[in-house]
Amino acid sequence: MVKKIILAETAGVCFGVERALRKSFEVIESKADQRVHSLGPIIHNPQVIKRLEEKGIKVVEKLEDAPSEGTVIIRAHGVPVGTVDTAKKRGLNVVDLTCPIVKKLQYAVRKLTEEGYFTVIVGDKNHPEIIGARSYADPERVIVVSGKSEIPPEVFAKRKVGVVAQTTIAFDKFREVVDEFLARSTEEIKVFNTICDDIFNKQREAVELAKSVDVMIVIGGKNSSNTTKIAKLCHEVNPNTYQVETLDEINSLGLNLDGKTIGITAGASTPSWIIEDILEGLQKI
Ligand code: SF4
Repeated sequence: MVKKIILAETAGVCFGVERALRKSFEVIESKADQRVHSLGPIIHNPQVIKRLEEKGIKVVEKLEDAPSEGTVIIRAHGVPVGTVDTAKKRGLNVVDLTCPIVKKLQYAVRKLTEEGYFTVIVGDKNHPEIIGARSYADPERVIVVSGKSEIPPEVFAKRKVGVVAQTTIAFDKFREVVDEFLARSTEEIKVFNTICDDIFNKQREAVELAKSVDVMIVIGGKNSSNTTKIAKLCHEVNPNTYQVETLDEINSLGLNLDGKTIGITAGASTPSWIIEDILEGLQKI
């Protein structure tokens, strides 16, 4: 029998994802007579995407793959500059659910570019949020790095450098890059801390919880960047950390949870019904 289960207060869906999901379901109901597509999966959680598909939202990876009628949903990660206009020109009704915090990052990149800064985005260059945010800068005056070792030496010679972060990146990664610029002679540095508070709090609480339990379980899609980062941070302080999507996955790990204290958290794209399902299952062990 499990000794104790501790659920992190910050576990689960953030306001940006909650808003995107709620409005997506509203769209399906109000546009029942139309075809509804989302540009990329609305959230990075396979179980939720399956439910949305059952309700009638079809995922397309590119605008060109959507028909030229009906509705297209822009997900919380946002899209590159011009995408919304292109969709409208194609005759699509656009529902833009870009998270306001992602918009803040896009505006920060645009502002840095307009003010003549060379922009450094700390994040994952292949993540849709960063592909979108990057497009707000002059392509010749922006780079994306995942850490200080990726900064090309010539960037330290730039007179004005602006640094921003992917909303879900670990704070220490961001600070490491800012510190590197401070230490290496860039004349003027402008920093926008664009990390999402929700993610920052989730990461901080998860790490503290992971330190205090026998086993740490992080619930969320394997394709969810924020969930994977939380799991990685927890693993650094507690090697008995597991990232799972479902209760079945925990069962298949064959863990000995007898007499153990288990910490649970969940990424920003994990809905409450998945967390409850796992809590219920663990209580029966
Ligand atoms: S994690 Fe933060 S930035 Fe991302 S969708 Fe949620 S609230 Fe918005």
